[in-house]
Amino acid sequence: MKRQLRGSCHCGNISFVFATDKTDSELPKRECQCGFCLRHGRISTSDPDGELRITVGAAEKLNKYRFGHRTADFYVCRDCGAVPVVTSEIDGAAIGLVDVRMIDGFPWSRTDTASHDREGEEVNDRLARRKRSWTGTVTFE
Ligand SMILES: [Zn+2]
Repeated sequence: MKRQLRGSCHCGNISFVFATDKTDSELPKRECQCGFCLRHGRISTSDPDGELRITVGAAEKLNKYRFGHRTADFYVCRDCGAVPVVTSEIDGAAIGLVDVRMIDGFPWSRTDTASHDREGEEVNDRLARRKRSWTGTVTFE
């Protein structure tokens, strides 16, 4: 049984359970340098062997924002503006990320993060990288 990390957007309309065997310090803390993630101060984490369950309360308050290559859905809450999860569909299956800032009580720190500039990455390379590193099992409620 994996440990379960719970989190949500600020108002709680988009919530998630991230199940992982990794410890807090083992989980990566990635700061993507794209314009969207910079603007939101995103710090993403994932576990390829983990599981992510996403629950959306009022569907009309969810905006799945896409940009650039349009291969990822950023779950933006229309009410509170937070972006707790990101999903991407590869070979018909969803993989995902959560923002460590949205995990209840998660002890992240600025000194702990790694910066990643993906500018210029080819789409196929990007999808292959995501498949290796993002949380491999995503379910929706
Ligand atoms: Zn919200």
